[in-house]
Amino acid sequence: MTPTLQTLQADITQLDVDAIVNAANTSLMGGGGVDGAIHRAAGHELVAECMTLNGCRTGEAKITQGYRLKARHVIHTVGPVWHGGGNGEPELLRACYQNSLALAAEHGLQSIAFPCISTGVYRFPADQAAEIALEAVKVFLQKPSSIQTVIFCCFSEADRARYERLLSPIGATQQSPGQGGVAEDALG
Ligand code: ADP
Repeated sequence: MTPTLQTLQADITQLDVDAIVNAANTSLMGGGGVDGAIHRAAGHELVAECMTLNGCRTGEAKITQGYRLKARHVIHTVGPVWHGGGNGEPELLRACYQNSLALAAEHGLQSIAFPCISTGVYRFPADQAAEIALEAVKVFLQKPSSIQTVIFCCFSEADRARYERLLSPIGATQQSPGQGGVAEDALG
């Protein structure tokens, strides 16, 4: 089965998938934005498990149970704070997607949903972040793994439209020919 990419405008805490990805901070103790929303929805058991993990470095990823979420697991990854782009931010953001997918595949998971990592309080430019996210996922899916569905879960309509432009064949002018190695579904 060919893996599919989807874009959704939704609250990631509501998704029924094998794993949702959390844009966490290095402490893994919860925070604002999507991190706070995930911890509130999952309940206090999540922070208890996070306390056993010894934090997480920027670009790396760690997995926990989903507790009260519909999602079975949470993959916590720490995006880079944007300091102008010359401090390894693009590579670190790519690593977040790669390491999250690798961890999901190690656990045999089939469906995973990402928020727009680093584009909130960490101020990573949204267009560049979306291009990096999409490219990292496409490269990962070129090799067979358990992963069948990757969802880009956008909180804002602007972010959803941004991903849809990048995913849709009509908006493919920004992509080099032959890049579409996987089937792409752009669900609205
Ligand atoms: P970071 O610190 O990595 O920038 P933020 O949580 O501030 O993380 O923002 C990352 C992205 O998550 C932003 O695009 C923000 O709009 C989005 N976001 C915030 N809450 C949710 C939610 N409940 N579901 C999905 N995305 C969310």
